[in-house]
Amino acid sequence: MKKLVVISGAGKGIGKALAQRFAAEGFSLALCARTEADLQALQTKLTQKHPGIEVFIRPTDVSKKEAVLDFAQMVQATNIPVEVLVNNAGVFLPGQIYQEEDGALEKQIETNLYSAYHLTRALVPAMIEAKRGHIFNICSTASITAYTNGGSYCISKFALLGMSKVLREEMKPHHIRVTSVLPGATLTNSWAGSDLPEERFMPPEDIAEAVFSTYQLSDRTVIEEILMRPQLGDIT
Ligand code: NAP
Repeated sequence: MKKLVVISGAGKGIGKALAQRFAAEGFSLALCARTEADLQALQTKLTQKHPGIEVFIRPTDVSKKEAVLDFAQMVQATNIPVEVLVNNAGVFLPGQIYQEEDGALEKQIETNLYSAYHLTRALVPAMIEAKRGHIFNICSTASITAYTNGGSYCISKFALLGMSKVLREEMKPHHIRVTSVLPGATLTNSWAGSDLPEERFMPPEDIAEAVFSTYQLSDRTVIEEILMRPQLGDIT
């Protein structure tokens, strides 16, 4: 039976690495991001490489509730049970609370927190009915660390970890596993423009590997939190 992995923000970076990792294991995928060309390129690449899978894509701005619900409807219309949901889409606007641009809080809360809330609420009832599934929330070390240049990003990621912990408690009786993923600096577009050397960052494929390894444990075990940092430590 086919199984679906749903990933928000899958056009680039960690989301793309996750899509590639699960595709390699034969999972079908439902992917969203704003940039349609990224999704189309990934769809073509993955279906050529793994002819047995289906890859559904939908350009979506997850900061908009209606767009998230539209993506969820597309997922439901596939009629393939959701085995894994990864709330990954996120935006990082560096700054300090007292100085950052007006609207930075709203933008990051909408993109990093509300998106995960609405997508989870839309998809979880069917997972509850099926009594199975695994939800990964891509939080950050900024969910537990107050970086001085983290500003509203830290606020949004602390909140996402809070949501993830609550969901873990709520989903216990429904046999749905919930894992909070807290990566440190990972080499993606989020760090575009930084002149730091590559070895200061983790590769996004390592985050995908940790998520897949966590998923493939027995249904009787949940890794509740994955905290990952570059070997050389945080970039502050
Ligand atoms: P990335 O390379 O910039 O990729 C982000 C992905 O999310 C892109 O596909 C982007 O596509 C999509 N996205 C952004 N805003 C969106 C929106 N409003 N609607 C739909 N899709 C949207 O970033 P990344 O580093 O892989 O980040 C992925 C997640 O990991 C984020 O939640 C981030 O906070 C978290 N994280 C990253 C790091 C790091 O160091 N890289 C560390 C800790 C946590 P479009 O622009 O086309 O929409």
